[in-house]
Amino acid sequence: MAKYDNNFVDELRARLSLVDVIGRRVPLVKKGQNYWGCCPFHNEKTPSFSVNEEKGFYHCFGCGAHGDIISFTMNTEHVEFKTALQELADMAGIKMPTVQQKSPERVAAENSYFDICEKACSEYQKLLFTDAGADALNYIRGRGFTDDMIKKYRLGYAPKNNLIAGKFGDIKQENLLATGLCRRGEYGLYDFFRHKLMFPIFDAHGKVIAFSGRSLDGSEPKYINTTDTEMFHKRMTIFGFNFARDEIYKKNRSIVVEGQIDAIQMQCNGFGETVAPLGTALTEDHIALLCKSNRNIIFCFDGDGAGQKAAARACGIVLPFVRDNSDVRFAFVTGGKDPDEVLKSAGPDGMRKIIDNSVSLIDFMWNMVNAKYLVSTPGGRTQAEKFLDTELKKITDKKLQYEIEQEYKKREFQEWRSWKKQDTPTVKLPEVDLVTKNTLVYIVNNFPDLASQYADFLASLNISTRFKMG
Ligand SMILES: [Zn+2]
Repeated sequence: MAKYDNNFVDELRARLSLVDVIGRRVPLVKKGQNYWGCCPFHNEKTPSFSVNEEKGFYHCFGCGAHGDIISFTMNTEHVEFKTALQELADMAGIKMPTVQQKSPERVAAENSYFDICEKACSEYQKLLFTDAGADALNYIRGRGFTDDMIKKYRLGYAPKNNLIAGKFGDIKQENLLATGLCRRGEYGLYDFFRHKLMFPIFDAHGKVIAFSGRSLDGSEPKYINTTDTEMFHKRMTIFGFNFARDEIYKKNRSIVVEGQIDAIQMQCNGFGETVAPLGTALTEDHIALLCKSNRNIIFCFDGDGAGQKAAARACGIVLPFVRDNSDVRFAFVTGGKDPDEVLKSAGPDGMRKIIDNSVSLIDFMWNMVNAKYLVSTPGGRTQAEKFLDTELKKITDKKLQYEIEQEYKKREFQEWRSWKKQDTPTVKLPEVDLVTKNTLVYIVNNFPDLASQYADFLASLNISTRFKMG
């Protein structure tokens, strides 16, 4: 067994939550100080397997299984000590201190992968400052990138012709293909990225593992990413995490923005704890990665409808990770601007204001159901309550779930109350026929945003009291 620095094992234990690591395999419920579940080491129907997060160990009162985060990983995944450490280190986003003992072929393949990506990154970087890269350079400078930023984030330019497929001819074709930088065509290999502004994607240790390329000729999609490879999994990789990791730890929170340019601008303007998912979809793995350091996340979305939708989605994904000491918040950049634009027009202070005005997860969910359902009606309230019930069930800490339910019970559904006040319209309006009424009810139920714009008019028709909501 290789010797590992005790500090390293301690750091792993500090950065990772035992409840999370075990919770991935065993559903846990908090009772008292401990979490409980059915033991993964013997067959049982009633939980006698307890997990003590604070002390960092698990104990089964049925079979006596006992251990910590490392032995749990070794015993459930049937791997040896160093593999378990490696897995946990990857989860925590920290580097293994000693040389890993992988098979020579594996090491060679990985080296080749990383070498090719590294070499490609350097070539792209060089090309950005040549005539060929002028479009890309102008574009990124126009977005407010200084040369220092371009250097730090290693931005580059992928040319119109085959760079990798052409210039990297001494490397085995299968190795080039493995990186996703080349594809095989009828006439041999060709480059996947052409005429693109290139953003390298780094792993948690800062190694280039993939790229994101932005189109420069207005062609859609605006961004293409390396398709998943053996070393790169989009759903598990967050852009900017390698730069943000220490800040997330120090500031005890992370900020999630929608785009990678936003993430870079945020990091360079005093919000070093900012990251962005690749593409639009946020995954559980992204949240799990962020939660390794702490569970305080501020999601920052555009203030438009798409941003609200994305926030609602994020809300559903983050709920299982929420603990009684989590602070999950939602900030909305209003006026259709993204963080990048806010930083340019209002500076870091303008952005700070938006972050300071963020709403808590509990308030966000509350606002969401009030906007989504027609809560002035019994049917709408039922829908809202059912939705909240379903969402809150995702919270693994049952005590916390209960407390949030109680909190919601205290609140009254707010929106649409103005309808009631205006039950008696001052102007006598013509009767609305049944089809029109049904149409209006449909619109109100399905497009509450639109309906809210015409709330006064709809109220004057009094459809909320005369109609059953379907
Ligand atoms: Zn057991």
